[in-house]
Amino acid sequence: MSLPRIPDSWRDRLPDPAGYYSPRIARLGLPNGSGYAVGLCPFHDDHNPSFGVKLTSARGHWCCYAGCGKGDMVTFHQRLTGLDFRSAVRELLEVRR
Ligand SMILES: [Zn+2]
Repeated sequence: MSLPRIPDSWRDRLPDPAGYYSPRIARLGLPNGSGYAVGLCPFHDDHNPSFGVKLTSARGHWCCYAGCGKGDMVTFHQRLTGLDFRSAVRELLEVRR
């Protein structure tokens, strides 16, 4: 079984960050003037929203202010699912908004 190639244009075909993160980040708020929204971090036991994500960034850059790190939509999806980079990209291209 061979997996389909990742299209070269995958960066342009990532899901919309707001549509992707909304169902995955509890208590995600509305973006501020810079496009950042804050919600509960899924990577630690978060009771005081410390996960910031830039919803206006096509790459969906995020950062946990409590120290879980930062990255883009692909690294977030990898961390959430445990998938390797290529599998995570493939799955993201399948996400429906
Ligand atoms: Zn965190």
